[in-house]
Amino acid sequence: MSTPRYDVDAIRAQFPILSEPVRGGRLAYLDNAATTQKPDAVLAAIDDYYRHKNANVHRAVHDLAERATTAYEGARDRIARWFHAAREQIVFTRGTTEAINLVAYSFLRPRLQPGDEVLLTGMEHHSNIVPWQLVAREKGARVVAAPVLDDGSLDFDGWTALLNERTRFIAVVHVSNSLGTVNPIDRMIAAAKARGIPVLVDGAQSIAHLAIDFPALGADFLTCSAHKAYGPTGFGCLVGRREHLDAMPPWHGGGDMIRTVSFEESTWNEAPYRFEAGTPDMAGAVGFAAALDWIESVGLDAIAAHEHRLLVEGTALLADIPGLRMIGTAKNKGGVMSFVMTVGHAQDIGTILDQYGVAVRTGHHCTMPLMARFGVPATVRASLAAYNNRDDLDQLAMALRKASRLLA
Ligand code: PLP
Repeated sequence: MSTPRYDVDAIRAQFPILSEPVRGGRLAYLDNAATTQKPDAVLAAIDDYYRHKNANVHRAVHDLAERATTAYEGARDRIARWFHAAREQIVFTRGTTEAINLVAYSFLRPRLQPGDEVLLTGMEHHSNIVPWQLVAREKGARVVAAPVLDDGSLDFDGWTALLNERTRFIAVVHVSNSLGTVNPIDRMIAAAKARGIPVLVDGAQSIAHLAIDFPALGADFLTCSAHKAYGPTGFGCLVGRREHLDAMPPWHGGGDMIRTVSFEESTWNEAPYRFEAGTPDMAGAVGFAAALDWIESVGLDAIAAHEHRLLVEGTALLADIPGLRMIGTAKNKGGVMSFVMTVGHAQDIGTILDQYGVAVRTGHHCTMPLMARFGVPATVRASLAAYNNRDDLDQLAMALRKASRLLA
């Protein structure tokens, strides 16, 4: 049986913003690791929620409240299915950052003793460094980071060497937002499990590109953000093992997270509601569920294969640009091309690319320790998604040549 052709034009047609003129010309949107654009299906689901279902959830008995609750809790079922998890394992958050903070404060903080270590890697996003630092500092513990090799892959032996009896927790990025490196999380989780150390996987950059079966993976926690997977901003979730979530104390107080409240004492709702204080982002949940439906309709494997083809083509195009040096050349790599150029600072290059309609991210990408590891203050990062095509790559290469000439 032949595999169906990947119809990138038909996919592009579903993303209205891709035909938005920028600087008076064609947009080549290559800033997908920062946030992805949204297809009609997601925009329509959010619009439909507000037009036909909006009310506060879990509280009133009227028809609209019932519709809102059904939509919101239906989204939880959909998201749980994505990870092969149970609905009770899905805690809605504002995104990866909040999900990591939740685990840092509710799970790790009560367990952390002076002298303990939290083991990270040298390629973590600030969101997967600072929350651990905050609780570690308070408890007299410390954060330790495993080395990164010259090609941007994890020094696995170096990481293993840092595992010891003081290691209380491990957190690791699945796919690096700055380099595209895919970490060997299966091996890491196996090594951690052998020592009984809990592991959190930062899935911010992986859920839209790699299939994740949470129970099979064996991690204790996984975090993600809807906006990096064609869904709305300000929404995401924590996926957790039930025995952990059931035992964890609340970390935010307010409505919906309680069972009873009196001035003397309050008691807590069950997980996941115990962690969802206040009126939640119902439209966010609905939009995220629609985004996962959309990815499934195209096929995650087909998207990953398309992005890989573009990564290979893009890497070859960039190799022909004089003075360009790629940062991050790991064998197992997602759709990220991060580079520096001898002609000028990443910021100046990004500014020129913008004049030619090319949207890339420039800077430290919230990974300052990783930039220091490679001895650069910043990189230019072009990152891929389902709707990118060869024209986007050609536009990037053309604009880089212009930048080289202008800055020379
Ligand atoms: N972790 C990684 C690897 C990321 O790329 C990002 C966002 O860029 C985050 C965490 C934080 O995600 P959010 O800002 O959606 O909470």
